[in-house]
Amino acid sequence: MKYSFLRPFQLSLWGVRRTTKPEVSQPACRKRKRVRHAQSDGELHKTWRALRAEWFPEAPELDDYAICWSSRRQKRTLASCSLETRRIRVARELSYAEHRVWLGPLLYHEMCHAYLARGGPVRDNPAAKRRACGHGAEFKAIERRFPGIAALDAWIKGGGWMRAVRSDRAKRASARKGPRIPAPAAAL
Ligand SMILES: [Zn+2]
Repeated sequence: MKYSFLRPFQLSLWGVRRTTKPEVSQPACRKRKRVRHAQSDGELHKTWRALRAEWFPEAPELDDYAICWSSRRQKRTLASCSLETRRIRVARELSYAEHRVWLGPLLYHEMCHAYLARGGPVRDNPAAKRRACGHGAEFKAIERRFPGIAALDAWIKGGGWMRAVRSDRAKRASARKGPRIPAPAAAL
């Protein structure tokens, strides 16, 4: 199940994902950490760690989150945060160089969710889960510290995200057709 939050620009953005799968036994902490990092995209995780060190130096445990691109195409969700599996997914539509400027504010937004959920597994801490899943006053107070958030909101409101989605669809359709091979010259 995925919870999405309607924002003024009527897109459900940055949904917080809650998994409903039953818990499975967890491997040892060290092993789990290694596996999660292996599932991360290197550049995304590097950006995440840099943001964490600058804005949340008191919470190094957030480095343990896995940060990856979405495997499915997205239309309404730019990024999502699973507090149970400690995984952030970023819409693959934003993986192009021209959109990299938005990764900082986007990951910072998701990090605010993760930060509010810290202090042990959220399944054992309903209060932390409630605090972390919404965009309440506490969340907003932390989020507004980051200067890039307003620019990201403006980009989305201005149609930037929908243009990114259309651009991605066009590029993928073009790639599926394969390289253009010039027609042979007509033989007379
Ligand atoms: Zn959010």
